[in-house]
Amino acid sequence: MSELAHKIIIITAPSGAGKTSITRYLLDKYPGKLAFSVSAATRSPRSYEQDGTDYYFLSLDNFKQKIQHNEFVEWEMVYEGKYYGTLKSELERIWKAGKTPLLDIEVKGAIHIREQYPDTTLALFIEPPSVDELRRRLENRGTETVESLLARVNKASYELSFKHHFDQIIVNDDLNKACKEAEAAIDAFVGLQ
Ligand code: 5GP
Repeated sequence: MSELAHKIIIITAPSGAGKTSITRYLLDKYPGKLAFSVSAATRSPRSYEQDGTDYYFLSLDNFKQKIQHNEFVEWEMVYEGKYYGTLKSELERIWKAGKTPLLDIEVKGAIHIREQYPDTTLALFIEPPSVDELRRRLENRGTETVESLLARVNKASYELSFKHHFDQIIVNDDLNKACKEAEAAIDAFVGLQ
C-alpha cells in the first residue's frame, strides 16, 4: 500500500496501563492534527460504546471475510475468539482528511505495523508502574469479570516483555506527566503546533 508513506502514530500498552486516557488527551488537544483510528472488532459493544465511533463492531464472518480480502493493515485475536484489526480504509479516510491516525492497539498488532513501516510509524509503549497497580486499575474500571480480569493481567505480564521493541517507553505513574511525554514525542514526529 503506497499510501503508507503517510505517518502513523501508535499508542500501545498492556490493557489497563492508561493508553486510552493518553489517547483521549491527545485527540482532545489536537483535533485538527490527529484523528482516532476506529478499529474493527468482533466483541460485543459495552453499554456506552457506539458503532463507528469506538469500534466498527463486526460479526466474526464479516471480519474473516475482510481478512481474506486483505483489508487490514494488521489484525489479532486479542482474546479467545475475539478479533480486532486496523482497516486500511480507516487509515486512508484519516489521511484524506489531512490528519495523522492515532491508533490505540495492543502490543502484537503495534509491533506488526512498526515492523512493516519502520520509517513512517511512531510507536509509544505505555508502561504501568507495576502489574499490581494494573490489576487495581482494571478492578476500578469495573468492566471485567473475574476470568477476564485474570486473563488481562496474565497477558499484561507477557506484553511487558516486548516494551523494548518500541520507539519510546513512557511510564504511566503520573497521567499528566505521561500525557506530556507522549505529546512531546508526537510533536517531534509530526509537528503539532
Ligand atoms: P477492549 O476490548 O478493551 O476495547 O480492547 C482490548 C485490546 O484490544 C486493547 O488493548 C486495545 O488497545 C486493543 N485493540 C483495539 N483495537 C485494536 C486493533 O485494531 N488491533 C489490535 N491489534 N488491537 C486492538
